[in-house]
Amino acid sequence: MKTKEIIDKSRELAKRFRVGKGKDFRLKDVDPDDTGDFTKEEDKPRSKEVLAMGVTALAELQDKLYAQDKWAVLLIFQAMDAAGKDGAIKHVMSGINPQGCQVYSFKSPSPEDLDHDYLWRCMKSLPNRGHIGIFNRSYYEEVLVVRVHPEFLAKQKLPPELVGKNIWDERFEDIRNFEQYLSRNGVVVRKFFLHVSKKEQKKRFLGRIDDPLKNWKFSSNDANERDFWDDYMDAYEQMIQETATKHAPWYVVPADNKWFTRIVVAAAVIETLASLDLAYPEVDDSKLKELAAAKKKLVSN
Ligand code: ATP
Ligand code: MG
Repeated sequence: MKTKEIIDKSRELAKRFRVGKGKDFRLKDVDPDDTGDFTKEEDKPRSKEVLAMGVTALAELQDKLYAQDKWAVLLIFQAMDAAGKDGAIKHVMSGINPQGCQVYSFKSPSPEDLDHDYLWRCMKSLPNRGHIGIFNRSYYEEVLVVRVHPEFLAKQKLPPELVGKNIWDERFEDIRNFEQYLSRNGVVVRKFFLHVSKKEQKKRFLGRIDDPLKNWKFSSNDANERDFWDDYMDAYEQMIQETATKHAPWYVVPADNKWFTRIVVAAAVIETLASLDLAYPEVDDSKLKELAAAKKKLVSN
């Protein structure tokens, strides 16, 4: 398949999961088990082929992004544990040049982080122009885990008079403004919520417990968070409603089937890069003369 064809197909697939206006978004309208036009049995093997083609197209686009050195791309991944963030990042980005890509994982904030505003640690990690930056979790934790567990908010050393009942609306507003600012500066922001079902998460946790090679991935705290499942879902839904915008859309990606998740994420990244005016820099006449002179010298020696 030609790159152009892959781009067209990617656009078609990614469009179904893109939320560019949050107002009417409802999480219940997205089925975590959805596999689009792919039937589970027959198309699971084919999905590997599709992903491989996507990865090749992505590598081509990234090469131009890097050479052009104009746009920066920030991809944000949020999800419940075991939804497949790490795997999606690993597979989708497997073909790209590591020199043009940075991945940051945001864990519980350090004492130094807590001594600053919450965007501070993320701002320090924004991608350079020409690069793709990946945030594995992000400042969105500030309206997710921090909202579900108010004790995290209490640890943030905020002046108490600034913590009122509107704090979440204020955070949504600040995040919207921040992303608007980024987009006005040539940082293209795309956000992914990998939507796994509670049932599939349980299956994956049990898999991590039963398989010695996966034991390291399991923490009993992750399982305890299941008690707050509904609170998390409410927080995710509202986060998407409040922060999905045209310039910084969310992709709500069904995540009960890893192979499908990866295809959708790849498609969304391809559609994003293809929407930019990527091109190799043109060389001017003096550069062409320089190249011709260098060639002459190389050939004659
Ligand atoms: P993952 O779960 O993403 O695969 P991990 O298990 O290696 O990664 P953890 O040690 O679980 O990483 O660290 C991520 C944890 O940090 C999550 O539970 C997340 O909710 C928490 N976290 C991230 N940002 C914040 C924040 N701003 N405030 C409080 N907790 C946060
Ligand atoms: Mg974890």
